[in-house]
Amino acid sequence: MHINHWIDGRICDQPEARRSPVYDPATGEITGSVALATREVVDRAVASAQRAFAPWAATSPLHRARVMFRYKQLIEDNHDRLAECITHEHGKVFTDARGEVLRGLEVVEYACGIPEVLKGQYTEQIASGIDAWTTRQPIGVCAGITPFNFPTMVPMWMFPMAIACGNSFVLKPSERDPSASLLLAELFRQAGLPDGVFNVVHGDKEAVDALLHHRDVKAVSFVGSTPIARYIYATGCAGGKRVQALGGAKNHMVVMPDAPLEATVDALMGAAYGSAGERCMAISVAVAVGDIADALVERLAARVRSLRIDQGMNLESEMGPVVTQAHKDRIIGYIEDGLREGATLVVDGRGLVVPGHENGFFLGGTLFDHVTPAMKIYREEIFGPVLCVVRAADFETALKLVNDHEFGNGTTIFTADGLAAREFAHRVQVGMVGINVPIPVPMAFHSFGGWKASLFGDHHAHGPEAVRFYTRQKAVTQRWLMHEGAQFSMPTHS
Ligand code: NAD
Repeated sequence: MHINHWIDGRICDQPEARRSPVYDPATGEITGSVALATREVVDRAVASAQRAFAPWAATSPLHRARVMFRYKQLIEDNHDRLAECITHEHGKVFTDARGEVLRGLEVVEYACGIPEVLKGQYTEQIASGIDAWTTRQPIGVCAGITPFNFPTMVPMWMFPMAIACGNSFVLKPSERDPSASLLLAELFRQAGLPDGVFNVVHGDKEAVDALLHHRDVKAVSFVGSTPIARYIYATGCAGGKRVQALGGAKNHMVVMPDAPLEATVDALMGAAYGSAGERCMAISVAVAVGDIADALVERLAARVRSLRIDQGMNLESEMGPVVTQAHKDRIIGYIEDGLREGATLVVDGRGLVVPGHENGFFLGGTLFDHVTPAMKIYREEIFGPVLCVVRAADFETALKLVNDHEFGNGTTIFTADGLAAREFAHRVQVGMVGINVPIPVPMAFHSFGGWKASLFGDHHAHGPEAVRFYTRQKAVTQRWLMHEGAQFSMPTHS
């Protein structure tokens, strides 16, 4: 199957395109090939978005909200279709894919309230006979560049808010699982979105660079790995664009000695091995504080060994394959690094074979104990089903570990001690914090973003921060009084 771009409200074929294979990770088979946009194709998409911008920006927020309401309904009607599409190209289990669609849908629901959230501020009589107000206006063509691990949710962090604010949008999804973005585009057309307001260009660095250097692209939202986030931020800002670039993660769960053991193990299993660890909010480090470590590792090991691993459309499956063979090889490389560096490999996921899916990109759950901060498997993001246990003597040591780490996306503490939880939330240098919540992803009415090397830029994604990112503030001061004569000193209103 050829997977093409979506420009000006329709599928746009690019017969002479370079193409990249798309796999079903459960079988290892190629199921399609995606076109990789050239600069000319990106130019066409941006030109379409630029033409659509002014008429769309001139519509009322209420009109845009009504389009969003119809879009919300269409996404609900096509929930399973979208989830199947994700499972077939990403590999995550179907129920998890449904959950991802729902978390994206929340942003569409938030965007349905755009007339309320776009309201400005007004001061009557800010000085004698003078009123002042601030409004927020759209900025133009916005671009989104998104990762493979959430092919619907992460794009939906971006484009519903940008478009509800009155902008037009060009999405460059991951080339590894590109199909769901086309379904999202088609549903938006059915909802009544004018042609050109939302476009999808597939591609790799060439397409990304064309967007980054395009004069008519005013804002760039990026989500992906930290080295690319850094590049996008530096390049986009140098070109005078607004940029928010969300990067990688190494999320720690601090397990205090008083944490309820069974509930904590349950939470860790889902947070570390759900979606095969390919989540930016996955827990990849468990910091066992004090004497809980032995019991924690023993119980975890039993659970990791009995993980149900199969293709994602098997509803019994808890974990599917990872996204590509290359990614699987990379994760295996990290496991070998861990062994070389002296970590204890408690459960080894290498060598797992799923009957009937021998060529699928499967890996078993892997558990390391006695990991230390100097090890590569601790410092770097693995992005696979590998959990590292680090042992810490006390709360202060655990907190310091989290704060000293390069990444600061998410973290959580499991404890029965309110004071420890309070101290942790207050002092930890991380953008999203859980207290007895393993994956503290803020819902759409709040915003999502990490600190340190997990986010470059000033604004978090979706929610109120997205309104600020996708609009410019204008302050208006008006007077309808009689002429007062020239004033040569600063007006000091009263
Ligand atoms: P990636 O950085 O490889 O790719 C992300 C996007 O950048 C893709 O669209 C890709 O085509 C493009 N890209 C890749 N190489 C490029 C280059 N050299 N120049 C320009 N563009 C390039 O990331 P991925 O492997 O698709 O996704 C996994 C990563 O995303 C992980 O690091 C994960 O932590 C991160 N992530 C972060 C968040 C967050 O909110 N912080 C959310 C999801 C994923």
